This record gives sequence, C-alpha cells and structure tokens, in this order.
Amino acid sequence: MSVLVVGSIALDTVKTPVEEHSDLLGGSACYAALGASFFSPVRLVGIVGHDFPESEFQFWKSRKIDSEGVQRVNGKTFRWSGEYAWDLNTRETRSIALNVFEHFEPVLPESYRRTDFVLLANIAPSLQSHVLDQMERPRFVVADTMDLWIKTTRSDLDALLRSVDLLILNDSEAREMTKETSLIKAGRRIRKMGPRYIASEMTKETSLIKAGRRIRKMGPRYIAIKKGEHGALLFGEDDQFFSCGAYPLEDIHDPTGAGDTFAGGMAGYLAGTVKKVHFNDLRRAMIYGSVLASFCVEAFSLERLRSLSMEEIGRRYETFKLMSQFEVPSA
Ligand code: AMP
Repeated sequence: MSVLVVGSIALDTVKTPVEEHSDLLGGSACYAALGASFFSPVRLVGIVGHDFPESEFQFWKSRKIDSEGVQRVNGKTFRWSGEYAWDLNTRETRSIALNVFEHFEPVLPESYRRTDFVLLANIAPSLQSHVLDQMERPRFVVADTMDLWIKTTRSDLDALLRSVDLLILNDSEAREMTKETSLIKAGRRIRKMGPRYIASEMTKETSLIKAGRRIRKMGPRYIAIKKGEHGALLFGEDDQFFSCGAYPLEDIHDPTGAGDTFAGGMAGYLAGTVKKVHFNDLRRAMIYGSVLASFCVEAFSLERLRSLSMEEIGRRYETFKLMSQFEVPSA
C-alpha cells in the first residue's frame, strides 16, 4: 500500500562545528518520503519555487515517489538554516524564509484521496488538518510536530490530535507539551490529550455515555517519543510500552532530518507490510525508523539515504536485534 507524505520541501543551510553547506536539499517531506520509499510507494504533497532543481523530480520518479502533488510556482523555495553545537544534539535555527510556503494551500490530486496510510510530516498543524480533510477515511494517520507549533498554534495541534493514530515528537517537545519532567508521564498524558480536548470542545454530546464512547475512539492511540542518541519510547493502549536504543554511530556528520526520516521509515514500513496496525507492528516499525535515521545522519542532507541499499538496512536491523538481547547462552 502507498503512503501519502505531506510536509516541507526546503533548501537548507547547515552548519556544524566542523563543516558548513548551503542550499542543500532538505525539508521534512523530502526526508520522510525518501525514508518511507524503502518500504512502500509514496505520494508526495508539497510546494517548491522556480529555484528548485528539476533533477530531484527525476530522482523521486526513480524511487517510486509520485510528485503529482508537488506544486511548482513562481517564487523562491522555502529556506531554513540551522547551526549545531559540538554535541550535535543542540541546534539553533539561524533563519527561516517561508517564501512560496507562505501561501501554500495543499490540494490533493484525485488519485491521492484514497491513500490508506498518511504521514503528516512537520508543517503547521492547520495545513496537516487541511490535507486530512481532503482524504477519504485513511486507515492509519501518523503525525510529526515540533516545538514551534506547540508554542504558537497549540489549539490547531490539539484539534489535529483527534484524527491521528500515531503522534511522533521528541523528548523536549513532549515535556513542553505536557509540562511533565518525566517522559513516561508525558507520553501517557499526550495519549489522553486528544480525548480531553474533544470532551470539552468537540463532541457536543449531552449524554455522557455517548460522549464517552466517542471520546474513546478519538485522539492518538499511539505516541512515539524520540530521544535522539538515546533511542525512542512507544506508548499504546492499556499502558502498552516499548523502549529501544539508538544505533551507536561512530561518525555523525549532520543530524538534520533524522526525526523526519524516522517518521518516514515507520510510516513506510507500516504501509508496505501491515494491513491492520497492532502494537507489535509498531515496535518493528520503530526499529526500522531508527535504522533509517541512523543512516541519515552519516552524511549531509539526503546523501546517505540516496546511496542506501535494502541489504544495509537489513544488516543494521539485525544488529539492533542483537543489541537488545541480554539473555544469551554462554559460548
Ligand atoms: P529535523 O532535523 O528532523 O527536525 O528536520 C529538519 C528539516 O525540517 C530541515 O530540512 C528543515 O528544512 C525543516 N524545517 C525546519 N523548520 C521547519 C518549519 N518551521 N516547518 C517545516 N519544516 C521545517
């Protein structure tokens, strides 16, 4: 099955303490789409300006990434610039130029509207909702977000949560959203957030029994919290819980896009291999997401993902399996 990916398509300038590169291909949708494409066909939604390289459309075609939903307009492509500290975890945004993004209104091609799996990569929650509104009941919706939206458009984000099956966010964002210092408590609270909003604002039910039933069916069923080099946590119904480490990399060149690639890997794996998503599928999806993110950071921009093979993904997946075993027979 295909996965629809919407998000930003950008030209990035990235500075680490040792290197700086400008006008690199980036954006949440580019990382997420390429990550997902290893497991399933992708339908991409976004916007680019006249300065966007034509060669990228050819590359997408070669990777079964359908770009019919990418609008090409006059003006400059969205630009983002960021700088990393020595730990490569701390990042400061140096500048953002919205350019063609400023008036972006995603319009889904007819052929996209019945896609079963959706990944709402990081963009404003109102745009994420706008895409969902044009779809015919997708089976599984994954959404990624960032601190900017939690701080500036919180009610849009809360409204989106009722339609989301899996919400992905990073540890500091989860803390920010819940004002909890414990990630375990934060994860549990976010799972309940969609329903709480709906309870007060959306059900418009006078009967509490009916409201209760409706509420149970809304809000993100699953939450994945990324902890960068410390792995990720997964929360599900009935206190289901899973935790995995990150791949211990020797060389990190550019952490940009790791989160988007993680989300793309998860959504692509689910779309490509699972009919009805269960918690155990999400455990495996989270490992594939982590594997892809670990490759992403080995080079600037999307370069490592472009040359990545399924064999390399498979080998690292097996290493993850070995890394998490602690009861092994003595030799
Ligand atoms: P990540 O490292 O996973 O947080 O993703 C970095 C990517 O997100 C970069 O390629 C940026 O172009 C893109 N990005 C940064 N800020 C925004 C924003 N406000 N909205 C959408 N995309 C953004």
